Amino acid sequence: MHQGVTPQNTPRHALLTCIVLMLATTMVQGSLATTNTAYNLIDRCAATDDLVFDGQAANASVQWQVDLGPRLPGSEVSASFRETITNDLTALGYEVSQQTHQRYGMNLTNVFAKWSPNGTSTGQLVLSAHYDSRNIADQDDNESNRSLPVPGANDAASGVAILLELSKHIPSMGLNHDVILFFNDGEDQDQQYTLGAEAWAENLTEEEVASTHAFILLDMVGDADLQLHNVSPGNDTLKSRLVELATDLGMVNGTVACDGTGGEDIVQYETLVGVLDDHVHAHDLGIPSIDIMDTSYGEAKPYTFGSYWHTMEDTPDKVSAESLSAVGRLVELGLRTYAFVEFTEDDDAANDVPDETEPLNEAADDGPKGSKTLAAFAAVGLFSILMLILVVEWKGKR
Ligand SMILES: [Zn+2]
Repeated sequence: MHQGVTPQNTPRHALLTCIVLMLATTMVQGSLATTNTAYNLIDRCAATDDLVFDGQAANASVQWQVDLGPRLPGSEVSASFRETITNDLTALGYEVSQQTHQRYGMNLTNVFAKWSPNGTSTGQLVLSAHYDSRNIADQDDNESNRSLPVPGANDAASGVAILLELSKHIPSMGLNHDVILFFNDGEDQDQQYTLGAEAWAENLTEEEVASTHAFILLDMVGDADLQLHNVSPGNDTLKSRLVELATDLGMVNGTVACDGTGGEDIVQYETLVGVLDDHVHAHDLGIPSIDIMDTSYGEAKPYTFGSYWHTMEDTPDKVSAESLSAVGRLVELGLRTYAFVEFTEDDDAANDVPDETEPLNEAADDGPKGSKTLAAFAAVGLFSILMLILVVEWKGKR
C-alpha cells in the first residue's frame, strides 16, 4: 500500500499519496440488518474453540520470505517464491494459476490458489496479500539506504505468511464457497502502487464480479505492536463484522471476549485512515472489500505509516508470532462463521461512509444527531473530493 507524504515531496506526488486522512470517527456504527444469514445464526464463541491458526508457522514463513531476498517483480527471487508456494498449495489440493502483466516496464505475475467445495459453490471469496517487497527504502533515515530494497518483513511477508498458514486449514473447514488466495505482485514499487491488483480487477468479467462475495486484503499485519485501524475505503458490513469477531477474540479494548477476559487494544476502528491499497480496485467494482492493516509500524512519524515503514528496519524482529496469530485467528474465525460472504441487500447498501469524521486526537463529538449528520455529509464530500483527486492524479501518471 502506499501513502505517506513528506513535505519535500512534489505537489503531484503529494496529491497522489496524500490520503493519510488520519481522521477519528465514531466508526461504523454497524446498523447490520439482523437477518437469518449463516453468520447471524452461527454461535461464534463456539467457533472460537475450533481455531487452529499457528502463529509460529506464520512467523517462520516471514523469516523464509525475507531470507529469500527482495521479492522484486521479474526477479529470480520472485520466481523462486512462486515456485515454492505453487508446489505447497498444489500439494494441499489447490488449483494454482498465474496471470502475467506488463506495467511500467515490470513483468508482474499474480498467483491464484483456488479451493473449491465438493458440492455446489455459492461463489468466491478472495483473500489477498502482496508478495512483492518494495524496491527502495525511500523513507529510511539513512540517506545511503534509500536506494536499497527493503527486507519487507511486515510490508509484504506478513500478509502472505497468514494466507499460507490459512491455506493449510481452509480445505477442512467445510465451506460452501470457493476461496481464492490471491498473491498479488507489484503493489509497492517506486511510485507505482497496487498494479497487480489493478490488473486483476481490470480483467474480471461481470460474471466474476457478481459471483465474488468479498475481497479481504491483509497488509502490514505482523507488527509486534499490533494496532489494526479502520481503513477507508471499505465496506461497512465487513468492518462491523470484523469488530464483532475481534471482540469475540479479545482484541477490542473495553469489551469482554468469549473466554471472559477483557479485550486488548488491538482493533482500533475508531481511528479511520485513508489508504490506497490493493482493495480499492475491488471496492471500485462494487465488491465488498476491506483492508486489514496496521498503519502505525514503529514510532509515529508524520505523513507515513510509522518509522519502520519503507525502511531497512522492516525486518523479522519487528514482527511477532503473537501478532500474526491474532490476525490469522481473526480471519480464520471470519471464514468459519461466514462473516465475509453473507450479505443482505441492506448490508450492501451500507457502503463505506464514515458516520462522522474529525481530526485525529480530538475527542469524538457527542453532540446532537443533527450535527453528526451534517458532519457525516461534510466528511463524505471531503473524502469524495480527495478520492477524485487521487484517481485523476493516478490515471494521469499512466
Ligand atoms: Zn509498502
